[in-house]
Amino acid sequence: MQKVNTKIVKIDKQNIDEDKIRCASEILKKGGLVAFPTETVYGLGANALDEAAVEKIFEAKGRPQDNPLIVHISHINQIKHLVQSVPEKAYKLMEKFWPGPLTILFNKSENIPYKVTAGLSTVAIRMPNHKIALEIIRNSKIPIAAPSANISGKPSPTYAKHVIEDLNGKIDMIIDGGSTGVGVESTVLDISTEIPVILRPGGVTREDLLTVFEQVTYDAALEGNNKELIPKSPGQKYRHYSPKAEMIVFEGEVNDIIEKIKIMLEQYLYKGMKVGIMATKQTKNHYNYENVIVVGDRENPETIAANLFEALRQFDKIGVDIILAEGISEKGIGKAVMNRMKKASTKRR
Ligand code: AMP
Ligand code: MG
Repeated sequence: MQKVNTKIVKIDKQNIDEDKIRCASEILKKGGLVAFPTETVYGLGANALDEAAVEKIFEAKGRPQDNPLIVHISHINQIKHLVQSVPEKAYKLMEKFWPGPLTILFNKSENIPYKVTAGLSTVAIRMPNHKIALEIIRNSKIPIAAPSANISGKPSPTYAKHVIEDLNGKIDMIIDGGSTGVGVESTVLDISTEIPVILRPGGVTREDLLTVFEQVTYDAALEGNNKELIPKSPGQKYRHYSPKAEMIVFEGEVNDIIEKIKIMLEQYLYKGMKVGIMATKQTKNHYNYENVIVVGDRENPETIAANLFEALRQFDKIGVDIILAEGISEKGIGKAVMNRMKKASTKRR
């Protein structure tokens, strides 16, 4: 791949510099790539209507060709051009959760290249709840295809420094708008069936969706250990979000988790390995050991979602051989956190 001179610009989301937004929009309109913050993670954007521009996303990320992209819009009116029809269920969701971390699947119109949807007849669309992202989309007047702005397989970026680590020299512009908020990606929802199905848990929880629908289920491939089932969200089939080190996630009651981690710690240290422990505010003092990273507060799992990917990248920086990670309750956003932790890990205990 040809090396590109990547422009890195800071934008204050409280006081947006419109010249910088215009510069980003110009790049996008000409078929270039711009990374920008959203409320979930940083996105790597391209013109969703320009097949050649979209192809560059796959190249820069090393993304498998069968993993479709989410199209980002800034106004509900944009959707008509992109889909065949807007079902009643979608209107209810858009009204309640947009802008926000909910991606809805629609039957795509012919304006969306198959490159975006990885050959699928459905297109995933969302409206991000971030001023910088919305301004860029509004200003460029085009829908923006944007997966997470990381090298495929690595933890998603929640700070501009993560994007710089992964994509500097590969894309035209990186906008540094500070840390993202939610910290895990959007929920991907299929509303084509009578009971809506969550294909990927994310920032909008099942509990949130149950305020709109009587029933909401998870894609069967997300549940249990049946490896035969193929996830309907293609991205879910890959090992993902992964730090360089092997990672083991411990599930169950918190005191059992602590005891199991202490035993494993001794065993790995005895083998001469450098171990990292991902702990929480409530548990950190149980480990009398140096490489403990506190990912957040168990009582407030939103803090864990916000810090998860940064914590995984920190373990890479420390250069540990193995990460022993505490699991958390799968209630609310905990479902998305545990989904990412399991995908990042090689083993579960
Ligand atoms: P990323 O933006 O990197 O978080 O990845 C987007 C996610 O949305 C991937 O896991 C995709 O599998 C999922 N996705 C995008 N489009 C579709 C679609 N048409 N059907 C099902 N899942 C989709
Ligand atoms: Mg991603």
